[in-house]
Amino acid sequence: MRQSQLFTKTRKEAPSDEVAKNAELLIRAGYIHKEMAGVYSYLPLGLRVLSNIENIIREEMNALGGQEIKMATLHPSEKWKQTGGWETVDVLFKLQSRTEKEYALGQSEEEIVTPIAQEYVASYKDLPVAVYQIGQKYRDELRAKSGILRGREFGMKDMYSFHESQQDFDRFYAIAKEAYLKVFTRAGLDAKVTEATGGSFSEKLSYEFMVLTDAGEDDIVYCPSCTHCANAEVTKVKEGGTCPKCGKGVLAKARAAEVGNVFDLGQKYPKAFGFTYKDKEGREQTPVVGCYGIGTTRLMGTIVEVFSDEKGIVWPKSVAPFGVHLISISGASGEDVKKEADALYTSLRQKGIEVLYDDRDLRPGEKFADSDLLGIPTRVVVSEKTLKENKFEVKDRKTGSISMLSLPDFLLRLPLIS
Ligand code: ATP
Ligand code: MG
Repeated sequence: MRQSQLFTKTRKEAPSDEVAKNAELLIRAGYIHKEMAGVYSYLPLGLRVLSNIENIIREEMNALGGQEIKMATLHPSEKWKQTGGWETVDVLFKLQSRTEKEYALGQSEEEIVTPIAQEYVASYKDLPVAVYQIGQKYRDELRAKSGILRGREFGMKDMYSFHESQQDFDRFYAIAKEAYLKVFTRAGLDAKVTEATGGSFSEKLSYEFMVLTDAGEDDIVYCPSCTHCANAEVTKVKEGGTCPKCGKGVLAKARAAEVGNVFDLGQKYPKAFGFTYKDKEGREQTPVVGCYGIGTTRLMGTIVEVFSDEKGIVWPKSVAPFGVHLISISGASGEDVKKEADALYTSLRQKGIEVLYDDRDLRPGEKFADSDLLGIPTRVVVSEKTLKENKFEVKDRKTGSISMLSLPDFLLRLPLIS
């Protein structure tokens, strides 16, 4: 993509009411646009990042056997009344049509997915089954103060699994937990897993996936020596105490953002809808259900919180909007530089590399500042100086290290750097 054609431009300041670092950087760099508190639009660069995140999740959910669907987000109130959620879910947005019919906006989709599954699951032979979707959710959050970490409209991947027995659910739950850890690792993050009771859903076991960042809203107590981790609100053990799991580590306390969680929903939703299946003996049984959420937009914001410096964003390669930021700096020999940069742009694209090519007629300082703000992992500069040496200047956004490389050397190293 030629930067001269890009729909967005960078800006010096974020909106004055925007205090969260993630939103401030993403807005200044042109990834997102703020509509109002807690509601953002995703622009070309932002959509590229979000799609990369979604594709990582999609691959891991497909590997688990999840089948992708897209459910309605405008819900009939009747289904929410049937489960009691109409009265009890405080964040539910309720709408009334001009004919006074009532609707809810999807804040989670148990009310929709359960009756769908009920249509297709008749016998034990149809189980287990898992479906998921990636899309918008709406919640009437009291405070939307952490940029895209807590929105009133936001992106979520939600999966629902249906099982014959608690035992089969437990089996799937364990592999889903591992798949979640893979997702976060692939997105460049180190997620810790807390065990907690399920809050409003049920008192059953749930896992929360937490990433350490001061921008988060949770406090966790964790062991630096093993995987022990708990939400500070629920846990009996305290900071400074000895780890109850390994008996060695000294527990530490830290702020964290919940990027995902998984719940054992038990039989609550099938019971609400009278959903049963026939077991091997032909008896009616109620399935056991699990739900598995990842906040896709919160994940994107968390990545920015964790990977940024005073100059801007530093995207992990796996989610970056482009692999290479190519910058031409034309001085007196402008035409030669342009020719060389154009040729490199073409040959990188032919090799399947995603390139943002800054072909704009701007001062070098402005181009470099924009490049640091955008945070593409590898920057390649073509200038009079590099032309003279018959090399390119290659800079790593993360480490800041610069090397002068010939075209063959650069191409050789590309699989490692982008
Ligand atoms: P939280 O405790 O942060 O409100 P939750 O327990 O309500 O989260 P779920 O309903 O299970 O979360 O949603 C699944 C995931 O969706 C969460 O783990 C989080 O990553 C994300 N999420 C939840 N609420 C929001 C929101 N308002 N804005 C952005 N992401 C959210
Ligand atoms: Mg919530």
